[in-house]
Amino acid sequence: MSITPLMPVYPRCGFRPVRGEHCHLIGDDGRRALDFASGIAVNALGHSHKGLIGAIQRQAETLMHCSNLYGSPQGERLAQRLVDLTFADTVFFTNSGAEAVECAIKATRAYHQHGGNADRFEIVTFNQAFHGRTLATISASSQEKMHKGFLPLLPGFKYVEFNDLDAARAAIGPNTAGFLVEPIQGEGGIRVATQEFLGGLRALCDEHDLILALDEVQCGYGRSGTFFAHEQYGVVPDVVAAAKGIGGGFPLGACLATEKAARGMVIGAHGSTYGGNPLAMAAGEAVLDAFAAEDILANVRDKSAKLVSRLEQFIGNYPELFEEVRGRGLLLGLKLKVEPRALVEHLRDSHGLLTVSGGDNTLRIVPPLVIDDSHIDEFMDKLSAGAASYPQEPTGK
Ligand SMILES: *Cc1c(COP(=O)(O)O)cnc(C)c1O
Repeated sequence: MSITPLMPVYPRCGFRPVRGEHCHLIGDDGRRALDFASGIAVNALGHSHKGLIGAIQRQAETLMHCSNLYGSPQGERLAQRLVDLTFADTVFFTNSGAEAVECAIKATRAYHQHGGNADRFEIVTFNQAFHGRTLATISASSQEKMHKGFLPLLPGFKYVEFNDLDAARAAIGPNTAGFLVEPIQGEGGIRVATQEFLGGLRALCDEHDLILALDEVQCGYGRSGTFFAHEQYGVVPDVVAAAKGIGGGFPLGACLATEKAARGMVIGAHGSTYGGNPLAMAAGEAVLDAFAAEDILANVRDKSAKLVSRLEQFIGNYPELFEEVRGRGLLLGLKLKVEPRALVEHLRDSHGLLTVSGGDNTLRIVPPLVIDDSHIDEFMDKLSAGAASYPQEPTGK
C-alpha cells in the first residue's frame, strides 16, 4: 500500500500548522510564519479572533445543526443582513465556494427555464477563470489541467477571453443564458476586470435578457476594499457567489440574487443538508459583526495603499524577479519573471513568510483583512530578505 490515508491530490509541503495566532501560523515543529496566504483568502479576521470563537462556542452549546425543513431564525438573520448590505433580495447558504457557484449556475439556467426559454442554458465564462472543483464548476473553467481525467464535462459552457468585450458579445447566441465572471480573477493571477468590460457585460445582459452572475468567492467580502468588488464598478449584478472570507474560516458560502434572477429557485428546486445550519450562521454573523466593529473595509483600503506603494518601490530593486504589482485591496499579486511556486517555497521555508502562487506567473498576497502596519513591515522585511537570497537562475528570457 503506497497511497497515503489523505488522498494525495495536494502537493503538501513540510510546514504543518497546528496553531494560529492573529496573523501568524505556528507549525508542529514550532516554526512561526507570517500568514499572508490566509488559507487562500479565507481567514479574513486572522486566526484566533475572539468574537468569532465566542460566537461559534456559544452556538455549538445551543444548537449546532438542524434541518432546513424547519424555520431558521439564525439563517433569516444573516440573510437579512446580507440583503441590507448588498444588491441582493434573497440568499441561499452553502458550505463552500463551488457550491455557491453551482447555485449561481442553477439559478441562471432556472431563470430561463422557468420563464419558458428552455433553449437558453449556455453560460459564457472566461479564460483562466477558477470557479471550483465540482463537475459543473470545472466545466465552467477553460483550464484543461482541471479537466484531465474527469471527462466528459458538463455541457453548456462557452469560454472566451477575459477583458475582451467584443469576444463576449460575439459569444451570445440563441442558447445563451448569461455570463459567469470573476470581477478580479484570483487563482488566474489577480487579473482585474476593466470598467469597460464589466460595465459592458451588464449592458449586454440588459439588452439580451441574460443573467450577469459574478463569482466573488475570492474577491468579495471586503477583500478588494469594498464589501463586494462589483461595487467599485457601479455594476449591479443579478447573482453573486460568495464564500472564502464569509465564515472567517468556518466552511460557509452563499449565493445572493435579485428577486427577478431567483424566479426559478422555487420550493423543491434546490437544497443542502448542512447549508446555512445554525453553527455556520453564527460564524457568518460574527464575521459581519467584526466588519462593522473593527471598520474592516477602511482597514483594507488603508493597508492596501501602504502595501502597494511599498511593493512598487521595492520591485524596482529586482527587475530580474518582478514585473508588476496587481490587484485591489488586499487581493494583490506580484507578476513574476520566474516560476512562482519556487519563490513561494523559498519565502516559506527560508524566511517564514506564507504567500500563494497563482496563474499567469503571479505570487498572490492575500493577508488577513485585519493586518496592521507592523505586519506590513514584517512582510516587507521577509520579502526583501527572500528576494535578496533567492537563487538567481537564468530565466530563459
Ligand atoms: C476558491 C474559489 C472557488 C471555490 O471555492 P471552494 O470553497 O474551494 O469550493 C470558486 N471561485 C473562486 C473565484 C475561488 O477563488
